[in-house]
Amino acid sequence: MRLAIIGTGYVGLVSGVCFADFGHTVICVDKDLEKIETLRAGGVPIFEPGLEELISNNVNEERLFFTTDIKDAVKNAEAVFIAVGTPSRRGDGHADLSYVYAAAEEIADLIDGFTVIITKSTVPVGTGDKVEEIIRARKPDADFVVVSNPEFLREGAAINDFKRPDRVVVGTEDSRAIEVMKEIYRPLYLNETPMLFTNRQTSELIKYAANAFLAMKITFINEMADLCEKVGANVQQVSKGIGLDGRIGRKFLNAGPGYGGSCFPKDTLAIVKTARDYGSPLEIIESVERVNKARKLSMADKIIDACGGSVEGKTIAILGLAFKPNTDDMRDAPSLDIIPALQNKGASIKAFDPESMKAAAQLLKDVEYSDQAYACIEGADALVIITEWDQFRALSLARVKTALKSPVVIDLRNIYDPADMARIGFQYTSVGRPSSV
Ligand code: NAD
Repeated sequence: MRLAIIGTGYVGLVSGVCFADFGHTVICVDKDLEKIETLRAGGVPIFEPGLEELISNNVNEERLFFTTDIKDAVKNAEAVFIAVGTPSRRGDGHADLSYVYAAAEEIADLIDGFTVIITKSTVPVGTGDKVEEIIRARKPDADFVVVSNPEFLREGAAINDFKRPDRVVVGTEDSRAIEVMKEIYRPLYLNETPMLFTNRQTSELIKYAANAFLAMKITFINEMADLCEKVGANVQQVSKGIGLDGRIGRKFLNAGPGYGGSCFPKDTLAIVKTARDYGSPLEIIESVERVNKARKLSMADKIIDACGGSVEGKTIAILGLAFKPNTDDMRDAPSLDIIPALQNKGASIKAFDPESMKAAAQLLKDVEYSDQAYACIEGADALVIITEWDQFRALSLARVKTALKSPVVIDLRNIYDPADMARIGFQYTSVGRPSSV
């Protein structure tokens, strides 16, 4: 099939590449000329494991193309995916749909013959109706169907998630569109990936319900970690103890500094707003949102406490800036709250992240970046681990101890064992665990 993808960011690029790898001919469009030039020159504008090789294979096989000209892409396409950003709208937290609607206008002018238009962006319930209205108003005789097909991939594991998803959700009741969607996802369909066909509203809501639930699960275990610290319990064992119950499950029960990233913060906010608009508030998710925001800031207090009550004049080494490992994405990363809060209390910050320092430099001020972990730690008064990259799990602890001015380690991801750390002589603080159990 011939597919167009509008928006070549994390989701558009990964979707486009994977669809090409399924055998479709895919044209990815973006307004960002630099991004498209990078891709055309064989580069990759984001860090995502495995992406570079997959792009180059599919470009070489002439199944994958990049352009800034939407005309090239949409003319003759049987299906057009909208994968543009839906950030929080400034001021009120609703999803900003201006990019989606602008894309719909542009598509309307170009569709030719029966075309399925698919919202892959995360969009509030009712957005598909509005997209349909926009296109119908602009081109009354167009033959098209608007389908919702939310994306559930995780950055850092995006290719595997896209090619081996837990499920594919498709929101349409139109039989022609259902056939097109089955054809697009045929390799997965044959693979017996569950495909859930729903109406458009249900599909739009499933995406927000999934993210709200996962954000709630993380926030639940984070609050439980705080209680563990007060009562001398170990949150990792609590996670295991409850997670082994099949009704609960073990994933998303790692206590930490609060969730960040390009999805959970904005999506929880948006679903809360939508629910209020419809007079059906989601009070649990409202609390999740509030608790998580406060948690990120409270991590700075935790670090200050671990440093003896003050960081004034101290140098703090930060390992990990991205919101999670294996990505360079800094959107809503906990480091963006923690670092300025420490600086406000008089700390100097040194930092290292394997992939996100370029993006971080745009967002954080007065940070001294190092080119590797030990250089970052050298001479610091304390080490703080914010993101659990694999390379930080395997540090030589003897070397860390020698490099630090004082042996203070604050591990916000629980990647080290409190007993080991105590034995080596660190003053070790983690999340929700007694210091030497
Ligand atoms: P992104 O900001 O990385 O990419 C969006 C791209 O769209 C940008 O490159 C921008 O230049 C381009 N764009 C905007 N308007 C355009 C237009 N009219 N024509 C062509 N290009 C245009 O965003 P993202 O992280 O890929 O997210 C896209 C959507 O997918 C969002 O709704 C997001 O919530 C959802 N989503 C993201 C993830 C994730 O992990 N990032 C996962 C699931 C769903």
